[in-house]
Amino acid sequence: MGYFSTTRTIGILGGGQLGKMLLNTTRQWDIQTHILDSNAQAPARIGCNTFVQGDLMDYQTVVDFGKNVDILTIEIENVNASALAHLEEQGVRVYPQANVIQTIQNKCLQKEFYKKNNIPTAPFQLFKSIEALKDAVARGWVSFPFVWKSESMGYDGYGVKIIRSNQDLETVNEGPCMAEDLVNIEKEIGVIMCRSVSGETVNYPSVEMEFHPTANQVEYVLSPARISKTVEKKAQEVARKVSQAYQHVGLLAVELFLTKEGEIWVNEVAPRPHNSGHYSIEASYTSQFEQHIRALLDLPLGNPENKVSGVMVNLVGAPNHKGPVHYKNMEHILAIEGVCPHIYGKKETRPFRKMGHITIVNKDLETARQIAEQVKETIEVISK
Ligand code: ADP
Repeated sequence: MGYFSTTRTIGILGGGQLGKMLLNTTRQWDIQTHILDSNAQAPARIGCNTFVQGDLMDYQTVVDFGKNVDILTIEIENVNASALAHLEEQGVRVYPQANVIQTIQNKCLQKEFYKKNNIPTAPFQLFKSIEALKDAVARGWVSFPFVWKSESMGYDGYGVKIIRSNQDLETVNEGPCMAEDLVNIEKEIGVIMCRSVSGETVNYPSVEMEFHPTANQVEYVLSPARISKTVEKKAQEVARKVSQAYQHVGLLAVELFLTKEGEIWVNEVAPRPHNSGHYSIEASYTSQFEQHIRALLDLPLGNPENKVSGVMVNLVGAPNHKGPVHYKNMEHILAIEGVCPHIYGKKETRPFRKMGHITIVNKDLETARQIAEQVKETIEVISK
């Protein structure tokens, strides 16, 4: 049952940059693709065959969109998972499966899943409300410092807060939550797994997130990670175990903590293309996006190894700039060898909005890292 140059269709929930980059592969292979997004100007609108404007969290909208496609996938996990479960019952192939999305949408369920499957993760306790958490603190069952995490979807750090005092506890949102031990982090690393319909699995080499020394923001993603062979082996083993436990189809980005004691603990996962895998477009034999499409179509998976080292820098809106976007100094960075910019096509910039990314490839990782710094200092995302 071919998808190449036929009317068979892949539907993607979400039309952001991740959706747009998936479309490079579907266009290359002439595969019909439909996109659903609430924003009429979504970056992926230009590369799909049919663009539908609608709310990803609305049950009926997702059902109506999904029944017109053969395979349904996501590029964002904030989608109506009950609609996906219904579509599965109706015979639509939903990858990742509805139950995987349901588990990862809830941070507390996700942590319980790791515990149940003997997957190493930071110790935690669950609470039905902030009152219950405060009570546990008062009784000495939870002690400062700890990390508060809201059960429901956070994004880029919202819904996560380090709590050092009773005063800090007053600043968090209501609702079910967990108290997680504060991990003594040596490095944050990630392993992207991919699993096809028939269960073939590949793992990408670990990447390393390098944080800005003062602002708590990932500044560079380095591939491969600067870790020992022993740590790499351990990270791969843990990621593989996570992938086997979920039995997902498609990509699974596994975020890991390397602790100061040399342990590898799972933080959380995303069953979709991930920012930490953007480097793979230029630096790997098979990009994460192509790999995802291969997995959904149950094709042989591609080689996940690096051809070359890669460092990725997110291109975010400059502080104090809001309005129609202008990319300043593009011509300067393009004069440097190995610099590969990606512009997502968002017309308006806002402070720290992800507008694009730049991958720097080089045979030598340290050289790529130095060029990345130069690129970051040169390019500016501003409004004129
Ligand atoms: P989000 O889903 O919003 O991205 P995460 O759970 O990934 O939230 O947490 C965001 C960041 O907070 C992590 O990348 C890490 O730097 C820090 N963090 C999360 N959990 C812990 C922990 N238990 N101990 C120390 N730092 C943590």
